[in-house]
Amino acid sequence: MIPSVLPTYSRAPMSFVKGEGSWLIEADGRRFLDLGAGIAVNALGHANPVLVAALTEQAGALWHVSNLYQIPQQQKLADLLVEHTFADTVFFTNSGTESCELAVKMARKYWYDKDAPERVEIITFEGSFHGRSSAGIAAAGSEKMTKGFGPLLGGFKHLPWNDHDALTAAITDQTAAIMIEPVQGEGGIRPLPDQCLKGLRDLCDEHGILLILDEVQCGVGRTGKLFAHEWAGIEPDIMMVAKGIGGGFPLGAVLATENAASGMTAGTHGSTYGGNPLGCAVGCAVLETVANPEFLADVSRRAGGLRQSLEGLIAQHPDIFESVRGAGLMLGLKCKATNIDIVNAGYDNEVITVPAADNVIRLLPALNITEDDIAEAIKRLSAAASQIEKTL
Ligand SMILES: *Cc1c(COP(=O)(O)O)cnc(C)c1O
Repeated sequence: MIPSVLPTYSRAPMSFVKGEGSWLIEADGRRFLDLGAGIAVNALGHANPVLVAALTEQAGALWHVSNLYQIPQQQKLADLLVEHTFADTVFFTNSGTESCELAVKMARKYWYDKDAPERVEIITFEGSFHGRSSAGIAAAGSEKMTKGFGPLLGGFKHLPWNDHDALTAAITDQTAAIMIEPVQGEGGIRPLPDQCLKGLRDLCDEHGILLILDEVQCGVGRTGKLFAHEWAGIEPDIMMVAKGIGGGFPLGAVLATENAASGMTAGTHGSTYGGNPLGCAVGCAVLETVANPEFLADVSRRAGGLRQSLEGLIAQHPDIFESVRGAGLMLGLKCKATNIDIVNAGYDNEVITVPAADNVIRLLPALNITEDDIAEAIKRLSAAASQIEKTL
């Protein structure tokens, strides 16, 4: 008999009833150190008092009105995002894949309104992940996500990761945009070198095409800048955001320049829930915290410490781990042992990590994880590795 929850996930057996900072707690009191943060979502940890206050205050006043009316919290969050980023305008969604939907529509409408309706093609990359909607799976294009789901949304061209020649050859007069994650998340924490991101920007400028960055996982302070592309000193035309921006409340956004957004006039897009007062009240509290330069400097400092400790961990367990890669607090441990076995051994030792492609385990802790918790995490990861070594 089919479970009452549609069985599209194979779930670990833990069941948490409470969170405190970087800790997750089961009903019997068993405490797990959380280095996954709900897949880079709980950017400020669990039950952060500032976010709890923002949410409960708004919950007592007003939850939802729809986008038929003015929403001051949405206006405030949009203003904050415009102030702190390249963007001139923002549309709020409830998830990353909804942000992908709008990014695709926006890029195509841009060219349609420029009398180039044949420009519909969007170039994407192998190993990418843009969510599970029809546009999201067509954009990523992997067989694992698309097989069996019938005709896919057309107009995507999939290229190998980090192959500049293939990219220049792929651009035609039907190309509307290039869509890429500055640091691939699901694909195994693969950062695009700053030089390549700069090269992409130049290529887009040369051909007049739009650059769409998917910062759903790597954005909102994760890499030590508010958004990852800032490291390369470039700006996109359109950017997809979600995960960390709501700190655990479902919230996403599409940020764009005035030029890229020019086709999206009244009636061209919408969302019943997107930008609701609850989500935006929390989003404002997240952004006011994370956009603070001191907070971001702390992320980089903590990340440096964690990365150094991970190098030590690899040296201690050379049969289990191979290398560490990533940016800021978006780190991947490339494994020699099977990544899933290490994640499971982590559960036995009460530390939570997240598997990714390319035999990587992801470390995406809360951006405000304490140094004590980082030290404890390394101990637990080492214990997990030792547990596997005994079976080799
Ligand atoms: C998680 C993720 C998405 C999809 O977000 P959902 O909220 O699950 O729809 C899209 N792009 C990237 C890079 C992601 O990591």
